[in-house]
Amino acid sequence: MTVDWLIVGAGFAGSVLAERIASVRNESVLLVDRRDHVAGNAFDTFDEHGVLIHRYGPHLFHTNSQQVWDYLSQFTEWHPYEHRALALVEGQFVPIPFNFQSLRLLWPEDAARDLQTRLIAEYGSGVRVPILRMLQHGDAAIRELARYIYDHIFAGYTRKQWDLNPEQLDPSVTARVPVQIGDDDRYFQDRFQAMPRDGFTALFRRMLGHPNIQTRLATDYRNLSPSVQWRRMIYTGPVDEFFDYRHGHLPYRSLRFEFRHHAGGPFQPTATVNYPNSEPYTRITEFKHVTGQDVAGTTVAVEYPQPHRPGENEPYYPVPRPESAAIHEKYQAEIAALNGNPLFLGRLADYRYYNMDQVVARALKVFEEIEGGTSAGTGLEAGRAPTL
Ligand code: FAD
Ligand code: UDP
Repeated sequence: MTVDWLIVGAGFAGSVLAERIASVRNESVLLVDRRDHVAGNAFDTFDEHGVLIHRYGPHLFHTNSQQVWDYLSQFTEWHPYEHRALALVEGQFVPIPFNFQSLRLLWPEDAARDLQTRLIAEYGSGVRVPILRMLQHGDAAIRELARYIYDHIFAGYTRKQWDLNPEQLDPSVTARVPVQIGDDDRYFQDRFQAMPRDGFTALFRRMLGHPNIQTRLATDYRNLSPSVQWRRMIYTGPVDEFFDYRHGHLPYRSLRFEFRHHAGGPFQPTATVNYPNSEPYTRITEFKHVTGQDVAGTTVAVEYPQPHRPGENEPYYPVPRPESAAIHEKYQAEIAALNGNPLFLGRLADYRYYNMDQVVARALKVFEEIEGGTSAGTGLEAGRAPTL
């Protein structure tokens, strides 16, 4: 059998490209994934109690990109959903990202009012300030507040999640959850925030329904029979694994998820509760809050961070820090030497801490390059995170 394209990985990166190539270019695609399902880490499924759960941890969709939103909207209706989270701090549940509501819960009234005035004067209302930046502020009262937030919300959580202190990671990691100057307690402020109405897996099934696409699951591309031939290839798995670790292992963090079902419910007041300082886990998410599903009982996912052990658990998080960037550069040079065949993209192949919408944007960009005949030799650009 000969196909125009072999695509490795049926997550967002591989599936968006499979869909575009099949429907716009009318070319044949063999899409393989070594797991037994499509959707990659965004996979969702009904558990034995009929609750829709995300097997690889809670996935909340949000984007500022009209292009990404319009593209995905071809394959799903949406359930409007804005994510909110709480963190257990000194025995109290306070909103995360830390905002003025959290401040008023933890500080005496007068002190909270004074700090709010100072923060607005220094940063402006509605601004989001990364904690590592706030720690550098010239005003001692603001620095003291930043130190409190760092100690009670970031230090313990980050050590659990990464086995590192916040300063040992690229500042963009803790900047994902900045301090909010104001009362807005939403986790994301993107223009579009919603969940696919029938779930992510249903969205993928529609995306991959084109007759030019053949999907083979539980199949590692390295075990394909020699009779399968292809003209071009796209690879969305771990970049170090593709090159047999010849420049060493890139570090990844992994997680173990414990799914717990409760007959009653709701289990907790909001979708996610973070435990920065207590418990061996980082957070608990209750899916029904996110999906809006109307079903008896409730299921939660408890996240236990772990080191990644190839072959034993999944490489969920690239670890953004200079040591890994140095190894990654060597792999980027290998990619460039391959001159665009295969093309590499996705969270694991680009070794980037992408959200889903960034992966979709990246795949749409790669498709434009394929269409424009400029995709060969794009390897060195592969690590750039699209800004949305
Ligand atoms: P993946 O989904 O990892 O797909 C790659 C696929 O390649 C995998 O299915 C793998 O099995 C397959 N593969 C690898 N090697 C081979 C091989 N040799 N042969 C065959 N198949 C192979 N993003 C958000 O926007 N919002 C969120 O709330 C959010 N929450 C997240 C929570 C967690 C715990 C994690 C880990 C990620 C989260 N993300 C979230 C990020 C999101 O999962 C990713 O951005 C997105 O799924 C990456 O898509 P991808 O196609 O690049 O990779
Ligand atoms: N973080 C933290 N405390 C929190 C929430 C987040 O220290 O209560 C830090 C931590 O380092 C985490 C990072 O901010 O890994 C990014 O958090 P996010 O919720 O975006 O992580 P993800 O959903 O990608 O796991």
